[in-house]
Amino acid sequence: MKTIPHWINGSPIEGSSTHTQPVFNPATGEQQSHVVLGSAADVDTAVEAASAAFESWSESSLSRRVQVMFAFRQLLLDNEEELGRIISAEHGKTVEDARGEITRGREVVEFACGLGDVLKGSYSDQVSRGVDVHNFRQPLGVVAGITPFNFPAMVPLWMHPVAIATGNTFVLKPSERDPSAANFVGELYRKAGLPDGVFNVVHGGKDAVDALLGHPGIEAVSFVGSTPIAKYVHQTATAAGKRVQALGGAKNHAVVLPDADLEFAAGHITAGAYGSAGERCMAVSVAVAVGEAADALVEVLERKAREVTVGPGDAPGTDMGPLVTKAAQERVENAVGTAATQGATVVVDGRGLKVDGHENGFFTGPSLLDHVTAEMDAYQQELFGPVLAVVRVGTLDEAIELINANPYGNGTALFTASGEAARRFQRKIKVGMIGVNVPVPVPMSYYSFGGWKDSLIGDSPVHGPEGVRFYTRPKVVTTRWPRPAVQQAAAGFSFPTSS
Ligand code: NAD
Repeated sequence: MKTIPHWINGSPIEGSSTHTQPVFNPATGEQQSHVVLGSAADVDTAVEAASAAFESWSESSLSRRVQVMFAFRQLLLDNEEELGRIISAEHGKTVEDARGEITRGREVVEFACGLGDVLKGSYSDQVSRGVDVHNFRQPLGVVAGITPFNFPAMVPLWMHPVAIATGNTFVLKPSERDPSAANFVGELYRKAGLPDGVFNVVHGGKDAVDALLGHPGIEAVSFVGSTPIAKYVHQTATAAGKRVQALGGAKNHAVVLPDADLEFAAGHITAGAYGSAGERCMAVSVAVAVGEAADALVEVLERKAREVTVGPGDAPGTDMGPLVTKAAQERVENAVGTAATQGATVVVDGRGLKVDGHENGFFTGPSLLDHVTAEMDAYQQELFGPVLAVVRVGTLDEAIELINANPYGNGTALFTASGEAARRFQRKIKVGMIGVNVPVPVPMSYYSFGGWKDSLIGDSPVHGPEGVRFYTRPKVVTTRWPRPAVQQAAAGFSFPTSS
C-alpha cells in the first residue's frame, strides 16, 4: 500500500512518527493509500528547514520571488488535469470541479505575480525641515497553514503564494483525508525554481497541529476549517504570541424575492447547494423563499434536484460525486431523517442512493427539505452535504433578520430584479461575502476572502491586500541627512514636532 510522505526541504520524507491514517477513494469506499501522521519531531524538522531557508529567501529580490511565482503559475496550468485527478481520487469531487478549484487558487498566484505594485510603500517629502518619511513592509519569518479537506489545492493556495512571494517560508499541514495534492504542489514549486525549504508539508492530525501552534519558530498561523477548531487554533496560537487568521464554518442563505426569475435563481441555487456534494464553505445550504415566491420556487428546486447526476468524480457527465468519508455520508443521511422527525417536508430524499458499480462508495443523493424553521437541527447545524433547506418568510426584512440571527456569516446571496432591495440587503446583512444574483460569491484574488461572526475568528481575511498585510510587518523610517557646513537646528529636549 502506498505511503504518502511529508514534503520537507524539497524532498519526500517519511519522518520519525510510525503512525499513519488510511486514505480512501470515496467513490469505491476502498482504502487506496495511507498518510504519515507527523509528530512534534517532524514539525521541528520542517520548521528548521523553513528557518534555514528564510535566511536567504527573505533577502532574495522581489523580482526573483515574482519570477518563481510566474513559473509556478505556468506549471499549475500545465498540470491542471493531473492535479485535478489527484484531488478527485481522494476527495470525491468531479475532476472538472477540482480543475475549477485549481483555477481559483491559481488566481492567487497571479495576484502574487503582481506583488511589486501591492508592496510599494509611501513617501512623504519634507515633513519637517530637512526630514522625510517613508514606509515599507518586511516578511515575518516561518509561517504555517492548516487547511481543511474540502479544497485541498485552493485553500492552501489562498495562503502560500502570498506568504512566499512576500519573503516568508511556509509549513503546510493539509487535511489528512486528501493529503496528496499538497505534495504535488511541493514538486511544482521545486520545478518552478523555489529553493528547498521555502515550502514544506507536514501531514498529520491534532499532534502536528498542536506542535505548530506552540512552536517558537513559527510567527503566524493561517487556519481554515470548522468553527470549533478555528476557535481553538485562534486561542492557542494567539496565547503563544503568534499572528492568527482563522476561518470557520458556514451556513449560507440564498434569498429569493417574488420578483426574481425563478428558473434562473433555482438553477443557480441547485448548483450552489449540490456542487461538490455541498462540501463547500460557500455552498448554499438554505434557500429563503420570500412571500409568494415559495411554492413556485420549491417546485423548480425539486425538478432541478431530481436532474442532478450522481456518480464517481472521474466519470463523464457526473454533476456530483460522493461525500468524503463514510462517517460524513452517515451524518448527512441521519440529518435528513432528523429533519423529517422535527417536521420538515422531505421533498427530495437523497438517502440510500446506490451508484451502479460503486455500491460501497460514500454516495448520498441531493436532498431538498421544505418548511424548515430556525429551531430545527437542519437549520442550526452546518450539515456540509448535499442538503438544501427551504425556509419560508414573509418579507425581505424578515429574511435579513433570520440571516443576521444566524451565528455564521460567511456568504449569502439575493435573487431579485430590484436594485433597491439589493442595496438594502447588502447594507443591512451581517455577512462578509454577498452575491446579488450570484449564488456563490467567492471574491477574486485581488480582494480578500472572509466571513463575519463564527465564520471568521479574529480580524484577518485571507489573500488579496489583507493577505499581504497579514504576512508582513510595516516599518516607518524618518530620515534626516544634514548638509555639512550648514547650520542645523539644535537638538531639543521637548517632544519633537514638525515645523
Ligand atoms: P476540520 O476543522 O475538521 O479540519 C481542518 C484542519 O484542522 C485539518 O487540517 C485537521 O487536520 C485539523 N484538525 C481537525 N481536528 C483538530 C483538532 N481537534 N485539533 C487540532 N487540529 C484539528 O475541517 P474539515 O472537516 O477538514 O473541513 C470542513 C470545514 O471547513 C467546514 O466547517 C467548512 O465550512 C470549513 N471551511 C471553511 C472555509 C472558509 O473559508 N470559511 C473554507 C473551507 C472550509
